[in-house]
Amino acid sequence: MKRIVVLGGGIGGTTVANRIQRLLAREIEQGQVQLEVVDRDGIHAYQPGYLMVVFDKMRAEETRQDEARLLHRSIRLVKAEVEKIDPAGKKLRLKGGQEVPYDLLVISTGSVLHPELSPGFAEGSHSFYDLDNALRLRDALRQFSGGKIVVTVAGMPYKCPVAPLEVTFMLDDYLRARGLREKSEIHYTYPIPRVFGIETVAPVMQRLMTERGIQTHTPFNVQKIDAAAKKLQGVEGDTLDYDLLVGIPPHRGADLLGASGLGDKGNWVPTDKFTLKAEGQSGIYVLGDATNIAISKAGSTADYEAETVAQAIAAEVRGVPPSARYEGRVYCWIMTGLAQATYIKFDYLHPPHPPAPSFAHYWNKMVYNRVYWDMTARAMF
Ligand SMILES: Cc1cc2nc3c(=O)[nH]c(=O)nc-3n(C[C@H](O)[C@H](O)[C@H](O)COP(=O)(O)OP(=O)(O)OC[C@H]3O[C@@H](n4cnc5c(N)ncnc54)[C@H](O)[C@@H]3O)c2cc1C
Repeated sequence: MKRIVVLGGGIGGTTVANRIQRLLAREIEQGQVQLEVVDRDGIHAYQPGYLMVVFDKMRAEETRQDEARLLHRSIRLVKAEVEKIDPAGKKLRLKGGQEVPYDLLVISTGSVLHPELSPGFAEGSHSFYDLDNALRLRDALRQFSGGKIVVTVAGMPYKCPVAPLEVTFMLDDYLRARGLREKSEIHYTYPIPRVFGIETVAPVMQRLMTERGIQTHTPFNVQKIDAAAKKLQGVEGDTLDYDLLVGIPPHRGADLLGASGLGDKGNWVPTDKFTLKAEGQSGIYVLGDATNIAISKAGSTADYEAETVAQAIAAEVRGVPPSARYEGRVYCWIMTGLAQATYIKFDYLHPPHPPAPSFAHYWNKMVYNRVYWDMTARAMF
């Protein structure tokens, strides 16, 4: 019997497990394959919902579901924290000491937020990268009566590269809707010499910001935040005062990957960008935020990668050569206000060209927020 273990039950882990189940349904039924998902708490978080929570477009409870409800009934769910992977012995060590052996492993542990790596961030900045902070920012905005808002990115790489743009555009609309825009300034800082990483997208976003009176500061790398004085100091020498700071905290891969000798210095796993195999390892695939691939850390990336990994695993189980390759596909909507959006769609060879923002693209995104649970998470398309 082959044991396939998926470590992590977020977007990547859930969709890859359901895809593997579909491809190997017969083998699982006949007991030739056992498929397991190991996840810390068995709660699946739809993180794009956090931005919606800030602006009252989703309720907190709509951003999470029990993992057990999303996985096919033939997939075993183990709710436990994994402390270490032993690639030589092909087993996981769980907190509490138990071991889970595997023949094939998929790592999808996502990224971990590290506000403490940016001096003053935890005390001085709001964020929306986890549910509690999204709710706090929502409440702070309700109290906001005008002033200077600064949006900043405190380290790269970070997941959902478009999220700082989105929150900036949504803030602009939100302040207009509340009649506070005239009494407010919005500033956007970014660590590289343009407002977004992808060269074909940055000028489009810069133009939208200029049209809306949003002031941009690039490159701006955060040195420290003085919470008491409400000042954001940049490595390049600029200092920005703020009344409300909205920051993206530094990210790292999961600690256990470094502890298991699988991670680089940021705990990201060196991964072949086409096969999604962990470099230098056998029987280990990686997807989603956990890889070191130079591509957007995004749910859509994880979902597209899951197609490749599931096919490769099915091929390994059947002893045939894998044919699927991940070609770098990513698809992300970009909210350009409270009721308009555009999107970017690209792969390794074809850069994105976002269409003009429209209500129709916004509507598609809002519908997707609802159908995510039955479509993407259950790997229905
Ligand atoms: C505010 C915000 C907005 C976003 N918007 C978008 C968007 O519009 N579009 C988009 O495509 N992406 C978006 N993203 C990014 C997207 O949510 C992530 O890129 C995606 O969740 C990554 O999927 P993943 O499976 O790699 O990791 P995750 O979904 O983070 O899942 C990781 C899982 O691993 C588990 N885990 C970790 N360590 C252990 C351990 N040691 N033991 C056991 N279990 C463990 C965790 O509990 C978790 O369930 C957004 C993110 C944020 C924060």
